[in-house]
Amino acid sequence: MFDVITGSIKSAVNKVRFKDDAASLKKATTELRKALLKADVHHKTTKDLIYNVELRTKELGIGQNAFLKALQENLTSILTAEGNQGFVFSNTPPTTILMTGLQGSGKTTTTGKLANYLKQRKKKVLIAACDLQRLAAVEQLKQICAQIEVDLYFDDIEKDPVKIAKAAQEKAKKELYDVLLVDTAGRLAIDTELMNQLGKVKDALNPDEIFYVADSLTGHDATKTASSFKEQIGIDGVILSKFDGDTKGGVAISLAEQVGVPLRFVGTGEKMPDLEVFIPDRIVSRLMGAGDIEGLAEKTSAIIDEKKAKEVTKKIKKGEFNFNDFLEQLKMMSKLGSMKSILGMIPGMSQMAGQLKDMDFENSDEIKRIKALIGSMTPKERNEPSLLNPSRKKRLSKGSGLSEVQVNKILKQFKSASKMAKQLSNKGGMKGLSSMMS
Ligand code: GDP
Repeated sequence: MFDVITGSIKSAVNKVRFKDDAASLKKATTELRKALLKADVHHKTTKDLIYNVELRTKELGIGQNAFLKALQENLTSILTAEGNQGFVFSNTPPTTILMTGLQGSGKTTTTGKLANYLKQRKKKVLIAACDLQRLAAVEQLKQICAQIEVDLYFDDIEKDPVKIAKAAQEKAKKELYDVLLVDTAGRLAIDTELMNQLGKVKDALNPDEIFYVADSLTGHDATKTASSFKEQIGIDGVILSKFDGDTKGGVAISLAEQVGVPLRFVGTGEKMPDLEVFIPDRIVSRLMGAGDIEGLAEKTSAIIDEKKAKEVTKKIKKGEFNFNDFLEQLKMMSKLGSMKSILGMIPGMSQMAGQLKDMDFENSDEIKRIKALIGSMTPKERNEPSLLNPSRKKRLSKGSGLSEVQVNKILKQFKSASKMAKQLSNKGGMKGLSSMMS
């Protein structure tokens, strides 16, 4: 993530050589200017930013730390917009949100991610499938909703998105949903027909907010289209998708400065948990290569069930950790989202995350084998791993389609993992296997 900007900031900082050395500050700002432009930051935003960083560095007394502090303060101030970050609930539920964006921007996926985010926070969410433009969109939502266990309102016969949206809102009111997310039609580019249709859905629903999903990878175009949407139908917040693939890192800065609408969330991967609240100083921290450990802690605490974690720790200590617990831990790991987005939040690891191809934890061969093996066990065997004698292992090999060597290897791995976890937990340095794994 953000290799371009993060790397260049480091090299700009190194240009500031001595205390009170104005010439080296000039060199540093020249380097920074080049970096910002290369990272797709708008030229006007770059000019203002450089001016302010230079001024503030001088105020603080020229030096590397002063330069870094000045940059951090100014970036944070650009990204901090008047208004709210994250999700705001209306006083009269259901909070109705129109999800808008161009085709391919990630609008439908983001609608699912937002529903998942709200569901994890114990909200009752209904999604309305009103993107009738892209035929696969309704089908995609059906799959997403089944996966995250959120209700979907759709109508395979009705052709008018306004009517579907209205009926969904009636249902959401009647059945006391907290939030209604309306997935609207996208187009490859902005056109009058799209805006007219969005306008009609907006008039019919009177939504609390309109979110615009902007694709980070489209660079300057993201800023241009967001501005058009703002002018033509009005938007209250931007969700920046595909942030994980953004090697440049300048789009957020340009969007915040040029469009004048608060950034609310960022999409950091293709999976449902890969959505984060946009918190300016944390994003700045990541842009500057310092990670976001607070964000990571928040992400884990929303997912890890403290009570269950304690139970597991107890079991580990007593040496009673079994295959059911193991499956539970695997399920929890997959809820954390993509490995790449997690790595990007760890200080010092963001550049490494950028170079990594994302690892699909859930669908890796190793995990598939483990699941196949556990799936072939009897409930008793899952609870008592010590029951697994050679003849049972033979049966498991047949049932799971794994060779006996593979079965033995997995069982050995499981045994040494529980042994190691036991040792660690007895040293008091661990809160369950979950914390060791994450
Ligand atoms: P829509 O046409 O705007 O509804 O777009 P989709 O929701 O179908 O998304 C288009 C593609 O972008 C899909 O392949 C998504 O998996 C992918 N996508 C969406 N959000 C993200 C994200 O935050 N990160 C990554 N890497 N891919 C994303």
